[in-house]
Amino acid sequence: MNDIMAQPAVDYDIAIIGGGMVGALLARLLASGEAGWRVAVIDASELSEEASAHYQSEYDNRSTALSAGTVELFQRQGLWQRIGQHATAIREVLVSDRGHLGGARLSAQERGRSALGYVVENAWLAPCLREAAQADVHWLAPVRVEKIAPGPHSMTLSLAGESAPPAISCRLAVLADGGLSGLHRQLGIEQQRRDYDQQAIIANVSFERPHQGHAFERFTPLGPLALLPLDERPEARRAALVWTLPPERAEAMMVAPEAEVLAQLQRAFGWRLGRLTRVGQRQSWRLALVEASEQVRSRLVLLGNSAHYLHPVAGQGFNLSVRDTAALASLLNRAYREARDPGELVLLNQYWRKRQWDQTLTTEMSDRLVRMFSNRRPGWMALRHLGFLGLDWVPGAKAGFATQTMGLASGRSGAGLISLETNE
Ligand SMILES: Cc1cc2nc3c(=O)[nH]c(=O)nc-3n(C[C@H](O)[C@H](O)[C@H](O)COP(=O)(O)OP(=O)(O)OC[C@H]3O[C@@H](n4cnc5c(N)ncnc54)[C@H](O)[C@@H]3O)c2cc1C
Repeated sequence: MNDIMAQPAVDYDIAIIGGGMVGALLARLLASGEAGWRVAVIDASELSEEASAHYQSEYDNRSTALSAGTVELFQRQGLWQRIGQHATAIREVLVSDRGHLGGARLSAQERGRSALGYVVENAWLAPCLREAAQADVHWLAPVRVEKIAPGPHSMTLSLAGESAPPAISCRLAVLADGGLSGLHRQLGIEQQRRDYDQQAIIANVSFERPHQGHAFERFTPLGPLALLPLDERPEARRAALVWTLPPERAEAMMVAPEAEVLAQLQRAFGWRLGRLTRVGQRQSWRLALVEASEQVRSRLVLLGNSAHYLHPVAGQGFNLSVRDTAALASLLNRAYREARDPGELVLLNQYWRKRQWDQTLTTEMSDRLVRMFSNRRPGWMALRHLGFLGLDWVPGAKAGFATQTMGLASGRSGAGLISLETNE
């Protein structure tokens, strides 16, 4: 543990509340520039030293699909050399429609790229990001921020944790707490929630044939089903499943014996990977889009899940937050060179204006697509039918949905769907 961790200072320029993947990335981007901000990260979870050294790929580990844009940022930041050691390349996306022939295919090779994106286990990604930040910032953990109190010149954070002072102050507080701690409510910021009346089952599955870096998006009458390739070693070969179902079906699948789940899944997915042989620990997520009513105020920014929580089917949450984080870090690092106050509202509004367009497009696009494909109310059923027809008329639109929902949509709009070839 480094020296600055042993002597917690009480005043900071920037305090990041939450050292999850998003908070850790911001800390890293602030520390790696030439700016000399005094940065603290406060995280409620235990800090295990060199967690990445103890990393083991376990069957049920959850994973994140990283878009090409995220990977490029990691490469520029010197993070990819490490993160990429345990990343699985997505070489093709194959889109199909249950009950219909044909489909669409998006190939990295045909686009002159080595991968359309990568899938990385969170158990590797998260400690890599955390460790990349830790050396240069003051990391307080396990410490919980209990209270956040705004003042004209600083924010005061009340802390609970053995290694922490009772309070710290900062000129800018970044709320990257995942949105579940309730701190936003202390500030009168609400979370707007849209439910989809659908659930996603998340699990890892095994099958007979090699996945060859193929990701699959399958449209079924009950909702879309995605499989993302994980690990190519024959002994560890598996894929991450996101299976959208009506709540009652999802609940039944959560408690059904493995053989029953495999049979249902095989029926929904088909045989392109041969026989499905194993389904691991299942988790169920209610599909919703949650957005904070405000993301910036004087001396405050909301980032990551606390700003916007996209349902896992969208596979976009982290990638969108990476683009937010890069924009915020770049403005803050420039502000340092210009000797500006990092909590200035003018500066933070600049950040918000820069990010609003991408956030709106990404959230609305995934919201519309998921509603279209996942909702069974009569009006939506009719719309979905029209949507299916529309998607069939517009070549590649379904694969566009796939790139969007697998987190592969690149670029600033997030909705900038990769154009593709179809074999319909
Ligand atoms: C099943 C699933 C699959 C997903 N797949 C993808 C994908 O493929 N691609 C993609 O881009 N995104 C994906 N996402 C979204 C992605 O996981 C999230 O966007 C990302 O994890 C958000 O990170 P975060 O740092 O904002 O929040 P979190 O990971 O929740 O981190 C919050 C941190 O804050 C700390 N904290 C909380 N309260 C306090 C407090 N009071 N004081 C101090 N610390 C506190 C916690 O300890 C935690 O470390 C998926 C999400 C789910 C649920």
